[in-house]
Amino acid sequence: MNKPMRVLEINLDAVAANLATMRARTSGAKVMGVVKADAYGHGMIEVARRLEAESVDFLGVADIAEALALRAAGVGTPILAWLHAPGETFETAIEADVDLGVATTEQLESIASAAAELGKTARVHLKVDTGLSRNGAHLRDWPELVAVAHELALLGRIKVVALFSHLSSTSAEDDLAQIQRFNGAVELAKAAGLHFEMRHLVASDGALNYAQAHFEMVRIGVALYGLSPFTDHSSGDYGLVPAMTAKSFVVQVKRAEAGEGVSYGYLHRTAESTNLALVPVGYAEGLPRSASGKAQVQVAGQPHTIQSRIAMDQFVIDVGQQNVQIGDEVVLFGDPSKGQISVDALAQATDTINYEIVTRMGGRFVREFFGSATPGGAHELPGPGVAF
Ligand SMILES: *Cc1c(COP(=O)(O)O)cnc(C)c1O
Repeated sequence: MNKPMRVLEINLDAVAANLATMRARTSGAKVMGVVKADAYGHGMIEVARRLEAESVDFLGVADIAEALALRAAGVGTPILAWLHAPGETFETAIEADVDLGVATTEQLESIASAAAELGKTARVHLKVDTGLSRNGAHLRDWPELVAVAHELALLGRIKVVALFSHLSSTSAEDDLAQIQRFNGAVELAKAAGLHFEMRHLVASDGALNYAQAHFEMVRIGVALYGLSPFTDHSSGDYGLVPAMTAKSFVVQVKRAEAGEGVSYGYLHRTAESTNLALVPVGYAEGLPRSASGKAQVQVAGQPHTIQSRIAMDQFVIDVGQQNVQIGDEVVLFGDPSKGQISVDALAQATDTINYEIVTRMGGRFVREFFGSATPGGAHELPGPGVAF
């Protein structure tokens, strides 16, 4: 078999190490590993299996379909799904023991009737909007949601596992105001006689910034993948290890004369007689076209700017007098502690955040997983490449 031209190496041992790091930084709180959006592009099933082997307390996804895919793969850890389609009936989710985030009384009533139909008790996490204005009940509507939940819990239709909310990460002042509102919403629920096991509010950034807001559980996404949730701090500042390395290989090398135009629109023209290396990664793989002329990659270890226009399937690097061969490795990004370019550098060059870069990597990249699915079995050979 030919080896793939485009590889996303996923280091599952790094994910496990990042989980341990975040556990140490959130002493005692349970950890929900957020694996939505295909584990931020890292491969949801493989990441979830490893997190389960590391005894993660919960898994978090946006859609019920993602939770069902995890159950279908044999993942038994509690899973929370919080973003629901209009008219969602919740039956399959309840049958599969998926915990449901609930923002409205309509959702709660659908969940309760599905649970009654199935003869089960649905597990819900009530979400209050403390100031992000995304999903969650407005504070104005919170007392009613709590009252309805209280009634349905007494009837045995639902069990309120947790109360939760999400920060806007706008400023410390805004976040602290949200923490305060969350505490108020919790007090209101208690006063209404509602029973719940947990409170959870913070994601990676809040977990690192606000020890007073860890509550019983923290929801950790980006930090598990070894990336910093902040643009003014690197992953290394927190001892996090990036889990994704995006690699390709030079597939053609060509000697060009001075003054030749390179790729669409001649964003780049050769200044002198030079070597051009062709790399088979394009915007179809998620490499932003806007990185043209800005981002750097490493060709056989040497950093070069992608001077010319990134196309759908490929880009060309003017490597100057570097003696590049077909098959030489090209690293788009990886672990800066190994001297590789960081995801953050690519994000900065394209005016976005590291989250978006790793999440959008796909197309014809093939994932290769390193590290075992179970702890203690590290340093196994990479598994078979998994196409998207
Ligand atoms: C995505 C998400 C998270 C995880 O956020 P990170 O910043 O990646 O840690 C946590 N909670 C909710 C509600 C989310 O949507």
